Amino acid sequence: MTPAFEQLLQALKHLPGLGYRSAERIAIHLLVERPEAGLDLKSALEDASGAVQRCTQCGNLSEGDKCEICMKGERVFSRLCVVEHVPDLFALERSGAWSGGYHVLHGKLSPIHGVGPEQLNLASLETRLAAGEVKELVLALSNDIEGQATCHYIQEEMVGSRSIEVTRIGFGLPSGGGVTYADSVTLKSALDGRRSYE
Ligand SMILES: [Zn+2]
Repeated sequence: MTPAFEQLLQALKHLPGLGYRSAERIAIHLLVERPEAGLDLKSALEDASGAVQRCTQCGNLSEGDKCEICMKGERVFSRLCVVEHVPDLFALERSGAWSGGYHVLHGKLSPIHGVGPEQLNLASLETRLAAGEVKELVLALSNDIEGQATCHYIQEEMVGSRSIEVTRIGFGLPSGGGVTYADSVTLKSALDGRRSYE
């Protein structure tokens, strides 16, 4: 969460029919995932989109090169939790159950919707894995076919023979919303119960 992002979120929350989480998703969508869809909201977005960008390291929202989390010295960056969207990261942060770093993909592989590896935030993940400091990758991706395909791609094409433990959560999380809609207790037990990914 950044101050300018919060400002936009507040504006969206006051639109009829938008709950807090819908506003979060729309704000992320308009700011970093499909900026072209924001033309009608351009004047309202100008301040925020000028200030908020993707963290160059993890893909989280940031108002500088690196986000607040990546700048924190006490986080354990040898363990990275890979999520689809920024609201997943927010949910995990609210749960207080994760002390490692994150990597936000900004989507999942979906050939039907034209989303291939190039459309996801994978280049900076490759940079992080190649640096050799990551020892565990926790895949917190949805348990549908696209989420599974994304997990498979990361395991096979990116981790490969590197000595990185790959684990997976997602079992027992609400269907349809995954991490974003899970409560803190569920997220904590999902993280504690993460299993080795084969
Ligand atoms: Zn970051």
